[in-house]
Amino acid sequence: MSNNIVWHEQSLSKEERRHKNQHHSTVFYFTGLSGSGKSTIANAAARRLFDLGVKTYVLDGDNVRHGLNKDLGFSDEARKENIRRIGEVSKLFVDSGQVVFTAFISPFQEDRDTVRALLEEDEFVEVYISSPLEVCEERDPKGLYQKARAGEIPEFTGISSPYEEPVNPEITLRTDIYSVEECVDQLVAYVKDRNWL
Ligand code: ADP
Repeated sequence: MSNNIVWHEQSLSKEERRHKNQHHSTVFYFTGLSGSGKSTIANAAARRLFDLGVKTYVLDGDNVRHGLNKDLGFSDEARKENIRRIGEVSKLFVDSGQVVFTAFISPFQEDRDTVRALLEEDEFVEVYISSPLEVCEERDPKGLYQKARAGEIPEFTGISSPYEEPVNPEITLRTDIYSVEECVDQLVAYVKDRNWL
């Protein structure tokens, strides 16, 4: 890194932005198997909070893998870099006073902890979107499990690549038991319990 880069202190602080927005800013860091419901719930929760006056944004594969991270593949190193950039972008969202939902499989605890370490304690909420592999495979919304079973996708999480369940997530949403709306209710209850809006 260049020695000539000096961090310019912004005239507007995160606290001022939060005060103006009248809500806390944080990352809801979703993790779970493909098909567990991360995108579905992230989008439904973002909509629900938006309707309550919260500034929200969803970061997912579509807007990250096709843009910012389109130069990255799926090697261990590239996966790490993918998550590192997602973490840094999320941090900018939090600094700007917004609530950001990230919807990536993010299978490794170490990577999730790397993002956690970038943020303050009340700015990172690990949300485990939990559903048994069989249920995810049955849903197979993008046909990826079928391809993975046919050997067409190497290192597919849950099939040929491991998924490490979160050790101590702030929130666990069981999408095999609860409906999308019920899961969103549970997330909103967490927000309200903390007086974040
Ligand atoms: P992911 O982002 O984790 O890969 P998606 O949200 O793309 O998963 O897909 C989950 C699929 O499961 C969707 O087709 C969704 O409609 C379905 N589904 C069924 N029940 C639920 C639930 N309770 N929560 C979330 N998704 C559900």
